[in-house]
Amino acid sequence: MANDSLRRLASDLKNFLAAQDEDEFIGTAAPLRAAASVSERRTASAALPPMAEGETLTVEFARAAQPAAPAPAAEPAPNSPMMTTAQKTAALAELAETIKSCSRCPLGSTRLNAVPGEGNVDAAVMFVGEGPGFDEDRQGRPFVGRAGQLLDKMIVAMGLTREQVFIANIAKCHPMTDPLHPEKHGNDRAPNAEEIACCRKYIERQIAIICPKYVVALGGVAAKALIADAKSLGALRGKFYDLHLDSVSLPRPVKILATFHPAALLRNPGWKKDAWTDLQMVMDELGLKGARK
Ligand code: SF4
Repeated sequence: MANDSLRRLASDLKNFLAAQDEDEFIGTAAPLRAAASVSERRTASAALPPMAEGETLTVEFARAAQPAAPAPAAEPAPNSPMMTTAQKTAALAELAETIKSCSRCPLGSTRLNAVPGEGNVDAAVMFVGEGPGFDEDRQGRPFVGRAGQLLDKMIVAMGLTREQVFIANIAKCHPMTDPLHPEKHGNDRAPNAEEIACCRKYIERQIAIICPKYVVALGGVAAKALIADAKSLGALRGKFYDLHLDSVSLPRPVKILATFHPAALLRNPGWKKDAWTDLQMVMDELGLKGARK
């Protein structure tokens, strides 16, 4: 090939390289019959030296320095069936930090402390109430007031300890009837539909991470929110439901059972017998003998 032809070819190739991505070049440069190796991308646009007749045109171009690919997220997908205890702990801790800084609904501006939940990340049983009350708002922990003390007794009666279960609420911040006076006692109310809609992704993610065998919904608000059924608590009690979550999938099937909220049992002690019947259903499934003598 004459030198003029080679120089035209080199010039064409130089322009070509200035406009093409490397991978595209590799696929299309072959028809040019230029032996190209990938090592020096930018030098291709530098002036090419004169070529002797018969010389093989070799163009080298550098692979542009790429930032290191981000490491895979340490936190696995919450619906991973392989999530380990350490991964669950890390994922729940990260979620708790997100909850503590959340202001997705108005409750975020009146709370004293968000109450993400606490307990055993590998729990077989998860108790879910409707929302924090006065004491929980002050301590940032779920079920620590009088109702919480009764829940502790219910858990012990089942043959478990508080450390063996996970306890949380649908709403993570204290719903108050009078948000201007959070210091008042008797200022609790159930979260409304809008607040539940804003917050439910957190409890769903917690359930998906922990993936207990059984969720016990405490009270009508939690039961209706998680069973997605408008029936009354009385109509929902007494049977297990397959739990389906809106925002995440579960690694394995989880059953949910509805029973009375401990605060309701304090107001209506006559309902304790029915609540105990509900809890015994879970005990029978798990083979728990309970604290019965
Ligand atoms: S109740 Fe839930 S959604 Fe509302 S601010 Fe608190 S954490 Fe966020």
